[in-house]
Amino acid sequence: MFQQMRRRLALWYVGVTAVLLLVFALAGYLYVQSTLSERIDDTLDHVAEVVVATLPSEPPQEPADVAEDRVALEWFAPTGERLWSTLDMTVVPRLHPGIWRETVTLSGDEAIRQVTQPVYREGQLLGYLRVSHPWFEVTKPVRQLLLDLTVGGLVALALVAGAGWFLSGLAMEPVRQSYQRLEQFTADASHELRSPLTSLQMNWELLHTQYPQHPQVQAMGGLLQRLGRLVDDLLFLARQDSQGVAAAEPCPVDALVMEVTQEQVALAQAQGVKIHLELPTLDNPDTLTVWGNYSQLGRLLTNVIRNAWQYTPSGGQVWVRLQPQGDSLTVTVQDTGVGIDPAELPRVFDRFYRVDRARGSNGGSGLGLAIAQSIVQAHQGTLHLTSQPGQGTLVTLTLPRFKGLTHRGSADRR
Ligand code: ATP
Ligand code: MG
Repeated sequence: MFQQMRRRLALWYVGVTAVLLLVFALAGYLYVQSTLSERIDDTLDHVAEVVVATLPSEPPQEPADVAEDRVALEWFAPTGERLWSTLDMTVVPRLHPGIWRETVTLSGDEAIRQVTQPVYREGQLLGYLRVSHPWFEVTKPVRQLLLDLTVGGLVALALVAGAGWFLSGLAMEPVRQSYQRLEQFTADASHELRSPLTSLQMNWELLHTQYPQHPQVQAMGGLLQRLGRLVDDLLFLARQDSQGVAAAEPCPVDALVMEVTQEQVALAQAQGVKIHLELPTLDNPDTLTVWGNYSQLGRLLTNVIRNAWQYTPSGGQVWVRLQPQGDSLTVTVQDTGVGIDPAELPRVFDRFYRVDRARGSNGGSGLGLAIAQSIVQAHQGTLHLTSQPGQGTLVTLTLPRFKGLTHRGSADRR
């Protein structure tokens, strides 16, 4: 859990930095590009201005001299025909009167920037002067910049990822410690409660033999039983958090389901609920085996099946089904009970969460499904709950199948 949180924190760190880097790189790139192109446009404007100022009042017959490097001149008649040029190119870009400033791509990545200016003398159009400059002075450095920014950005991102991992580790440490302290506290507290509770229960037995019919003694018995279960559940969860699956072995799930269902049938019947068990008939019962802890898996199934009949009114039914499915085993427990409101569904696995606290008269603490979930996770399985309020609930438990060799025939192990 902490590893996952740490990873997520580091990922956020890298993600945010990547976005910031991208914004800065884009801004820098656009700034450099616009500065370079402005510089070329300034040069072109300047040359055009100087040449036009030195022109005689007739159309110039010969190329004018330009002091600027790489700047070429062209002269067009008012009809658009080119009269002379210093542009060293075979293809002549067409003159577009009206567009006075454009970047013309010649071939591949060769391009030139051109500024065209109509020249008037005494109100008469003398012709057009076009000034050109190669565009590679913009594209080349800009391309280099893009490459540098990409490489630099990737290196920076790698460094940030390292730093993010380190920093999120630092940030997680106090959380991890306080979580561990909390876990330890729960484990210690439930452990400490265990022994006084046991002697209370023993004293109660004595009292009960003396006053078996006394209502207060009977009430006390119920409360003691409930307290005992709560402490057991808490202790179990605290241990599970720190240890995961206890001793694991191949477990025959069909035998387990049968055993748990048999235990629950009588209890359910007392409430007027009928439990049906449907097991597959298979040639090879080994396909119904999972790798895990037998008593933990029993606890898991007990919690789910007990819920099914506890939240089903008298006259209802419960179906427990077992099916192998590819590489996994599926146990479904379906009831015709009160169901769960969709808004409450995601929370039923929370510790101490009960859908309707006022209704809860069965003495449950709300730990049943939390325990079931933690056992399922420790066994790499999934536990899924769907429900229709007023119609019933379907719990689907999936566990990975054990594919090694087993020694069947010891189904009566508990
Ligand atoms: P505990 O199991 O610790 O005795 P609990 O049954 O109240 O107490 P969970 O088993 O964790 O606690 O179940 C949480 C809540 O989810 C229950 O209070 C109940 O409202 C609801 N719930 C669980 N299973 C069903 C079901 N099959 N049908 C209807 N509601 C259910
Ligand atoms: Mg329960």
